[in-house]
Amino acid sequence: MIRCPYCTELRTEEELVYGGEADLVRPAETSSDQEWTDYLFMRANLKGVHHEQWCCSAGCGQWFKVVRDTVSHKVLHVRKFEELPQPATEVV
Ligand SMILES: [Zn+2]
Repeated sequence: MIRCPYCTELRTEEELVYGGEADLVRPAETSSDQEWTDYLFMRANLKGVHHEQWCCSAGCGQWFKVVRDTVSHKVLHVRKFEELPQPATEVV
């Protein structure tokens, strides 16, 4: 269960869409083919605390960011897409 920070409804996994790893930095247009390949396909796939993006697909349709422990599935923090991370509450 994750509470959408926009519509504030508590949503089940079936009501959300997982959008993968959050905060990926798009490489410059002059980047190498390898840098583009890494950007498009390579992910950290961490065990433990992971920064993710989710969409409230059955609700308001907004994308938001989640910090989740991939071992326990515990949601550690949820924030709006445009909000900056809060170091005091988010583990990097
Ligand atoms: Zn929502």
